Amino acid sequence: MPCIRCVAALALLSLASHAPASAAGADKALPMREVLPDTVVPVRYDLTLAPDAEALTFRGDVKIAVDVRAATRSVVLNAAGLKFAHAAMDGGAEASVAIDEKLGRATLRWDAPIAPGRHELFIEYDGKIGRSTLGFFAMDYSSADGPRRTLATNFEPAEARRLLPCWDEPERKATFTLSVDAPKDRMAVSNMPVADVTSLSATMQRVRFATSPKMSTYLLFLAIGDFERIHQPVDGVDVGIVVKRGDTAKAAYALDQAGKLLHYYDEYFGIVFPLPKLDLIAAPGQIYGGSMENWGAIFYSQNHLLFDPAASTEADRQLVFEVVSHEMAHQWFGDLVTMSWWTDLWLNEGFARWMQTYAADDLHPEWETGLASASQLERGKLADSVPSTHPVVQPVYTADQAEESFDAITYDKGAAVIGMINAYVGRDAFREGVRRYMRVHAFGNTVDSDLWTVMQESVGKPIVAIERDFTRQEGLPLVRAIPAAGGVQLSEGRFVDDPATIEGLPPQRWRLPLAVAPIGGTPRYILLRGEMRLTDAAPLLINAGQQGYARVLYGADVFDGLARHYESLTPIDQLGTLNDGFALGTAGLAPASNVLVLASRLPAEANPIVWGRVIELLDELDIRHADATQLAAFRRFGLDLLMPLAARIGTAAGANEPSNVIILRGALAQMQANLGDAAAIAAARRRFASGEGTAAEQRSALSIVAAHADAATFEALLGRAQKAADPLQKQHIFDALAGVIDPALAERMAEIALTDQIPAGTGPRLLAILARRHADLVWRIVAARLDDPALPFDRSERWRLAIDIAGCSADPRRIAELEAYEARSVPAEARKPFLEASSSIHRNERLVTMVLPQIDRWIAARGALK
Ligand SMILES: [Zn+2]
Repeated sequence: MPCIRCVAALALLSLASHAPASAAGADKALPMREVLPDTVVPVRYDLTLAPDAEALTFRGDVKIAVDVRAATRSVVLNAAGLKFAHAAMDGGAEASVAIDEKLGRATLRWDAPIAPGRHELFIEYDGKIGRSTLGFFAMDYSSADGPRRTLATNFEPAEARRLLPCWDEPERKATFTLSVDAPKDRMAVSNMPVADVTSLSATMQRVRFATSPKMSTYLLFLAIGDFERIHQPVDGVDVGIVVKRGDTAKAAYALDQAGKLLHYYDEYFGIVFPLPKLDLIAAPGQIYGGSMENWGAIFYSQNHLLFDPAASTEADRQLVFEVVSHEMAHQWFGDLVTMSWWTDLWLNEGFARWMQTYAADDLHPEWETGLASASQLERGKLADSVPSTHPVVQPVYTADQAEESFDAITYDKGAAVIGMINAYVGRDAFREGVRRYMRVHAFGNTVDSDLWTVMQESVGKPIVAIERDFTRQEGLPLVRAIPAAGGVQLSEGRFVDDPATIEGLPPQRWRLPLAVAPIGGTPRYILLRGEMRLTDAAPLLINAGQQGYARVLYGADVFDGLARHYESLTPIDQLGTLNDGFALGTAGLAPASNVLVLASRLPAEANPIVWGRVIELLDELDIRHADATQLAAFRRFGLDLLMPLAARIGTAAGANEPSNVIILRGALAQMQANLGDAAAIAAARRRFASGEGTAAEQRSALSIVAAHADAATFEALLGRAQKAADPLQKQHIFDALAGVIDPALAERMAEIALTDQIPAGTGPRLLAILARRHADLVWRIVAARLDDPALPFDRSERWRLAIDIAGCSADPRRIAELEAYEARSVPAEARKPFLEASSSIHRNERLVTMVLPQIDRWIAARGALK
């Protein structure tokens, strides 16, 4: 399943995290992991598949070379939704087969014991091709030549068992030789290149792929579709982009970037990409989890890979790079060296999320992705500040719990911890540590300490202890910086959104590497643990460069001093101080208005990414306002605040503008429209009607027109989406329609998102975008349908949808409704992530009841001064 789960357009606050687990809880006596017995383990799979794309069924047979480690009469392996026709060992007696669908297991039994040694298990079976985008599934779209169906797989963490009986655990690596019967006019793609093709009939052929190296089952991939492929050789590897017929022009950008990234990673990891080819394949819609790093055959949601020179924007350009670079980093970190078990998923995902930014900063420094990622990593801090948080490393026993682990703590806190260690040890030493780890563990499995032990040996700093402090205990450190005689007194505590939620808990400590610097001066590193007295004169910037995973609370006088110098801080410190200001206000540790004090001090010439964050925060506050009078005052303030910026960047693109300015202009126009600027709305309508301007200007205009649509405009845009043959173009229009402000039209859009009018797999995304503004309305519609088997959503997808939608609400009544759904439809062991939604609802409620009144009073007082 998942990589890059987050969609940039979604509310940060709806993406909180889950699962309670006290810091001490992790080492107590625990239930057994739900893993297969290791008496029999796989060595080699030889799989032949015959899918029937029309009937949505398939036949399979698999020969599995296994090592039997102790004499046994039974073999237990994973299988889900498969019907066994024959199962025999070494061509001998037929096994009896018992299926446990709940555990996703099959037990094969023989009368006579199987002796230790190498054997060959043969199984013939049937399976079903699904409509949700997990397991083995179909995605439909219309093309100029008529309707088309793509078949594809998406397995992480534990869905390979829907395609073949197998040992579906990351540590059970084996080689795979896959053959598939496919129509001659379709292309089949898998992890390895095609080895040979045999004609079966006038229309059908058998495609056999070369044998893979040893790899985990979750990385196996197969797709069959009406594809075209463009490719280029890079460092001896055939790098290809596979798209639906007619889309090769939209593949050129990804091919170019993938080539540069392959070379970059060959060098970074110190190991040349070990497979003969690497394909990046575009789905004709969205797949669950976003995109998936199958080894040698990465599968992308269409908007993560396709770049249409005529219709894609600068934000699309950066997003495609980011996801391509994330999934390609996994080809080494995750695929070549794989976590032994899902407990260490964070190392895979945290590393890839961090690496996507690191690679972007090296290959596209003009985007300042490292700076932009500070806001992305803010998601991890938000998730870590509410009661549903959990340690980065948490026990995982079952496949359902493995699926739950793909959250903001795993990705964003994980990435923040890795970034902090990289900054502390230095980039050369860190890369050397990664290279040694890769060399030692290639084609194998690891636990997280394997990396950190190697790193510690290389650099001679207490890296293992630091990493343990941040991954074995939950929580975000709060550093208080109080002026003291002759300097500054630092003390550590824990930051939470609602201080009442940690009352009575024992104090926590972290070994926290922090850079400190006088304003405008050179930073130096300290390693804080507990308390520390610094003798520098105030104002001293704590966590300069924002690489430490912490928030900083200054005394009121020091904050005023920093605010006066806000203009002269570096962009990353402006951003960090702004994010901390918002969070500390929510927690009641500082005036909530501090965030507006800082925003008011930001000059129009400031970095576009910092301005982008100001706009996001304004939008968050705007959406939560319910009182019309207060809202009107807030909007006047917002428009005043943005006016100098609007004057500086203008409404039309200049020649050779930086990418980030173009992105900011679009966000600014949308925000002005949302704040009720009639001129901004009218300008967007004119621009959209004329069809003139750049792709970015047209998309920004489309978003504004759709958000502020009346019924007639909505229907016209809907008609345009329905008529569009291209699924990517369709998705752009539907994404825009999901931002509609009018509640009656939002209701209509929610109903549409539950039909097959939208591109395959995009329903959950559209509903999540809608829920930002209309959480309660969308919840009412979706909650009534969550158990409807006709919806093309997998069960875990339904759970995630319920959490994401309800979590956008500020109404505590949603919690009881969500609990009723859990009690009815969710197994007890899979309920932990639902705490995320409750935490998020409580947080939103605090924004409404505590933060907004302070903000509104500050705005009123400021107005009175004018
Ligand atoms: Zn990933």
